[in-house]
Amino acid sequence: MKKLSIVVPCYNEEEMIPLYYPATQKVVEQMDVEVEYWFINDGSSDGTLDELRKLHQQHPNVHYISFSRNFGKEAALYAGLKAATGDYIVDMDVDLQDPPAFLPEMYNLLETGNWDCIGTRRVDRKGEAKFKSFLSDMFYKFINQISNTQILPGVRDYRMMTKQMVNAVLEMKEYSRFSKGIFSWVGFRTKYLDYHNVERAAGESDWTTWKLFKYAFDGIADFSQFPLSIAVWIGSTSFVLAIIGLIAVIVRKIINPAAAVFGWASLVSIILLIGGLQLLCIGIIGRYIGKIFLQVKNRPIYIIQEKK
Ligand code: UDP
Ligand code: MG
Repeated sequence: MKKLSIVVPCYNEEEMIPLYYPATQKVVEQMDVEVEYWFINDGSSDGTLDELRKLHQQHPNVHYISFSRNFGKEAALYAGLKAATGDYIVDMDVDLQDPPAFLPEMYNLLETGNWDCIGTRRVDRKGEAKFKSFLSDMFYKFINQISNTQILPGVRDYRMMTKQMVNAVLEMKEYSRFSKGIFSWVGFRTKYLDYHNVERAAGESDWTTWKLFKYAFDGIADFSQFPLSIAVWIGSTSFVLAIIGLIAVIVRKIINPAAAVFGWASLVSIILLIGGLQLLCIGIIGRYIGKIFLQVKNRPIYIIQEKK
């Protein structure tokens, strides 16, 4: 019999855990597999850890890892994938936005041996703010334009993978972890199942628009060097314009030696414009250097306080 590991990152989810476990267990019981759960308590400040301890006492196949503080979902996912011992490993959100009903289909598809990973895609974003959906559409268009790592719009982290693919993901030890990009980068044969958006069953998502922006920039910077070449383009364009301007000034002086000097208003605007663009480019380079700095320090991706 095959073994299935279910990895579930949890951050302040005390309400959701008692709903999630029975809902998932109901589906899993119908399947012909041995199951283990790995819940990751990502430094929650509510009763999440107590809920997990309770579950672990009642069910020996439920394990948990508790972090010393909040390290973010990507870190939690990494810890869970590392701890999982199954032949197949699935990553799910605890808020039931990843419908457990997909598990048997994912499992059967992997069993055919034609795929290494069965992912899921939301085909709509019902119940989500229009502005956020718009921004995220723009993000996918942009990143697919500039990066060699292609990311399908609406892809969720909810996916079932073979141990082989998970090992490849674990090989990527980068500090700044953009999972959507990492799953795509490692390759393997992936099939996506489409479904309609499900709203959170309880609690709330802590994704503000600002956080999404940061996430988008991290994704772009982690999987593309395009922003770095912006400086090259702006620099070469303004260089060419400056040469043309210089020639124009000299020619004008030769033709009409009495001509007045051009106004200073345009000069000030140009200086401000160029200054602004220079700072922008330095900022972009700075963000990349920041990433290098974090990576070079080689700090652990997470710190475990308790593991059962
Ligand atoms: N999560 C986490 N650490 C965090 C934030 C979220 O482990 O710092 C977990 C959270 O408990 C949930 C999953 O990641 O199981 C997805 O979070 P959320 O529902 O807030 O994101 P969304 O579904 O809106 O993308
Ligand atoms: Mg959610």
